[in-house]
Amino acid sequence: MNKIVKLHCVAQQYSWGNYGLNSTVAQLLSADSCVKIDESAPYAELWMGAHPSAPSVVETDDHKRLTLQQYLEANGIESLLGKQVVDRFGAVFPFLFKVLSIRTALSIQSHPDSDLAKKLFEKFPDIYKDPYHKPEIAIALTPFKALCGFRPLNDIIQFINDVPELKASIHASIESDKLDHSNCSLYLNNVVVALLKTNATVIKENLATLVNRISAQSTKNDLDQLVLVLHEQYPGDVGVFFAYLLNYIQMAPGQALFLPAGEPHAYVAGDCVECMAPSDNVVRAGLTPKLKDVDTLAHMLTYNTGEPPLVKPICESDNHALFRPPVDEFEVESYHISEGAEQSIKSRRGPAIVLVLDGNIQISSSLQPQNNFDKLIKGTVLFVPIDTPFTVKTIDSKSSTLYIARVSERLFK
Ligand SMILES: [Zn+2]
Repeated sequence: MNKIVKLHCVAQQYSWGNYGLNSTVAQLLSADSCVKIDESAPYAELWMGAHPSAPSVVETDDHKRLTLQQYLEANGIESLLGKQVVDRFGAVFPFLFKVLSIRTALSIQSHPDSDLAKKLFEKFPDIYKDPYHKPEIAIALTPFKALCGFRPLNDIIQFINDVPELKASIHASIESDKLDHSNCSLYLNNVVVALLKTNATVIKENLATLVNRISAQSTKNDLDQLVLVLHEQYPGDVGVFFAYLLNYIQMAPGQALFLPAGEPHAYVAGDCVECMAPSDNVVRAGLTPKLKDVDTLAHMLTYNTGEPPLVKPICESDNHALFRPPVDEFEVESYHISEGAEQSIKSRRGPAIVLVLDGNIQISSSLQPQNNFDKLIKGTVLFVPIDTPFTVKTIDSKSSTLYIARVSERLFK
């Protein structure tokens, strides 16, 4: 029997999250009556899925609390996820869905592809926690700022020429004749490695000069402001210089960014929903007190340059958007349902997680009455097995926004 069940989800309290109920994550979490919000603590990420670091929990009819993975195993993984999903991804839930609420920038990072993830996990299981790749999509919920992918090569060369503190920090570790930009990948590789290998004291001094110089300018453009903000949040951190190497994008709510393996990125500010393969493998380059694995990073980056990878949604109606990046593990869909309106949610083949981002809703399913819910409030998270169509109606004179992550239709084509 394909039953929709509620998930109790866990927040990650990373230091970069917004505090207390200022955080969208805490607001969503507070829908769960078992959770007390601490106003002095950061709430960075809400994790919806079965990742062993913070698994979502299902409360069964006889009041047992099972992790989502245990629940799937107890009720038949194949009947809940579908044979094709289990054949492709094994007997594990195939994606991790998140909400992020950002107060200070996240580290500059990149994620390994499947082969590298397996190798890193075998060699350094304490650092790289699982054997999976981590392609990810981020969809802005508020105005959202991020650094992502290398800028066009000519822009990078120009910045290195025009920003003396950046130039000095790179040239401290590499001779000029090694910086030949006729081979773009090699050039960028050399620039990144040189920057990351320059002595931390030299970087600190150069950043201090840069920040003083920008502060004294009578006008400051967006990039100047970004450099000041990053330096205020991570004083003396080499990652601040990456503002000149990576595209700086400011996304409107509803815009989405897809990050395949090997793309450098850092989310800077705003709220987003994020979906990824069920992995926590991060290789960091800066804006972090954590380990910077320079050799692994330099080796794994794609060194693609140019426009950042925005994903165009497929829209079936005015209130709908479907983001389908080029991976099999996941796609993400949003519905905005007006006050008093009804919306039928098509049965698609992939198993799904539904998040009620705002408003209160009722769910009905004429074919499967076990899936009727009278009232689901903002912050409710549901697991929906394969082949489970349902209808949503907004209640209490409010509109509602739903985000649905599911295994991609690409898998079934
Ligand atoms: Zn990432």
